[in-house]
Amino acid sequence: MRRRNRYPGAVQEITSPIPQYLSALLDAVRDEQSGHVADYIPELASADPNPLGIAMCTVSGRIYSAGDCDVPFTLQSISKPFAYALALQERGIETVMATVGMEPSGEAFNELSLDGKSNLPMNPMINAGAIAVNQLINGEDSTVEDRVEVIRSLMSDLAGRDLGFNESLCYSELDHADRNLSIAHMLRSYGVIRDTAHDAVLSYTRQCAIETTARDLAAMVATLGNGGVQPITGKRVLDPDVCRLTMAVMSSAGMYDAAGRWMARVGIPAKSGVSGGLIGTLPGQLGIATFSPRLDQEGNSVRGTMLFEKLSQQMGLHLMNPLPVGVHAVRAIEERGEDTVIVLQGMINFSAAESIIHEISTRDFSAHRLVLDVTRVVQVDGVGKRMLGSTLLRMRRAGYDIGVYDPEKRLLGLVLSDGTRAPRLKGLKGLKERLR
Ligand code: GLU
Repeated sequence: MRRRNRYPGAVQEITSPIPQYLSALLDAVRDEQSGHVADYIPELASADPNPLGIAMCTVSGRIYSAGDCDVPFTLQSISKPFAYALALQERGIETVMATVGMEPSGEAFNELSLDGKSNLPMNPMINAGAIAVNQLINGEDSTVEDRVEVIRSLMSDLAGRDLGFNESLCYSELDHADRNLSIAHMLRSYGVIRDTAHDAVLSYTRQCAIETTARDLAAMVATLGNGGVQPITGKRVLDPDVCRLTMAVMSSAGMYDAAGRWMARVGIPAKSGVSGGLIGTLPGQLGIATFSPRLDQEGNSVRGTMLFEKLSQQMGLHLMNPLPVGVHAVRAIEERGEDTVIVLQGMINFSAAESIIHEISTRDFSAHRLVLDVTRVVQVDGVGKRMLGSTLLRMRRAGYDIGVYDPEKRLLGLVLSDGTRAPRLKGLKGLKERLR
């Protein structure tokens, strides 16, 4: 809701600087002409090399974009992490781990190779792994058609709109699928897949031929970063554990042979595809997608890589940048009449709970009752709740009365370690003055 302007004279809308920043970012890489479009099938070889687009989706569901962010292109290898997530969701980690490993391979994405010891594909981001993962979806007995529909439907839920296939590209790819057919034969000969090589490759190739835009992909990958809830539609698509595992594998094996350098320089779990797309996500923050078809020697989009490098450096988006989550978890400790009120704030996870416990355990309180005020707490995770429960119990055992002021129910379900509950207060003395 907009507030009425209190000042006379004309005023303009206050706009976000982010779209302008993204446009400037595109301008900074636009003239880079190096690299080549993928040429292993005629359909990709004749693709327009010039489109350049970027989209960003926050976990709150806000989308920012610039350039050719609505130009459709096929997912190709970008489908791999999402199909892996779907297999994990449907079959559980044990079954998936019995089919595909999670170590970087250090080999080309379409290498005919398996792990020397296990005879399983090294990871789900190379073709051998992706073909095997595809076979897990919708059960081994599924028809190709049903399996592909389940995959298309998941991708659509992730994008927040109904996605389709690029049929001509798919069939062009199938006409030149000798390499993937060899991989499928190899997988079948080792008992990793049961379908015929033809059906396995058909199913995988259709998965690769699903068409999206950079804008779709930003939302899809932001869903991984948001623990499985699509940020725009609010629909839960995947479980948080599945997303965590998928992002972990993306970070070690998502960028073909350049995964190590990528994590060092960019530090965003990512996946690229031969049609020029590149996706990345920072857990709990955002998803990013770029589109620019010219590829470097490793098969990663040249300008996409540059965009991610710049974004990471300029906007501080490296995963290894320390976020001091718990440091300021105790906002204040206030004496209010009979009570000492410990005002907490922000997100309460392990580190925050640790700093709260430290503050409490290194003080002498003169009041008779200690109250945790969580009005300013945004979220408490499971560990945070357990640790606060155990802390409240220790406070009680140390001889204090305890209480919790939690009108927003952030601590719902909090049970102290001895099975009792902390008394909930209806109000706090002096609260109105503080909030003013
Ligand atoms: N469909 C392509 C293949 O399997 C995807 C390759 C890629 O994007 O890396 O050869």
